[in-house]
Amino acid sequence: MLSKKLHDALNAQINAELWSAYLYLSMSMDAEAKGLKGIANWFYVQFQEEQDHARILMNYILSRDAVVELAPIDAVRTQWDSALEMFQDTLTHEKEVTAMINNLAAIAAEDKDYASANMLVWFIDEQVEEEESARDMITACEAVEGNKFGLYMLDKELAARVYQQAAPLAAKE
Ligand code: FE
Repeated sequence: MLSKKLHDALNAQINAELWSAYLYLSMSMDAEAKGLKGIANWFYVQFQEEQDHARILMNYILSRDAVVELAPIDAVRTQWDSALEMFQDTLTHEKEVTAMINNLAAIAAEDKDYASANMLVWFIDEQVEEEESARDMITACEAVEGNKFGLYMLDKELAARVYQQAAPLAAKE
């Protein structure tokens, strides 16, 4: 059985993942409104991935015969000054998510809940990738700062990003 502490923290994590989805959807809409369709696409893919993260946690809670409790999702910012600022906010946010995942792993270890600890390994690895990709995007935006043609080319490149279902969900089908 999941401990109450871990169950509550997993439900809180679902809310955090859905808030992340909402944040990236908001960035996607703002980018598209500014004519940056490729950056809008990049964040739309991110929006879809965050929904997968929530779904993985919901599936897990249910598979442990526990209840999923969906709390209200807080409002998100709606406008950014530049793509660079969006990716800087993305990195800051993902660092916070990493700390939350680490906290979940610490509770699972404390509980000697090996199944939960094992499930969380995927999220620990995912956070390394999330922080790395945000840093890469910051580097790319800094490289084209003040250069409209550079931004145009970067935007074109990001239009190619394609959503792929997260591995734990694909494996479940
Ligand atoms: Fe996530």
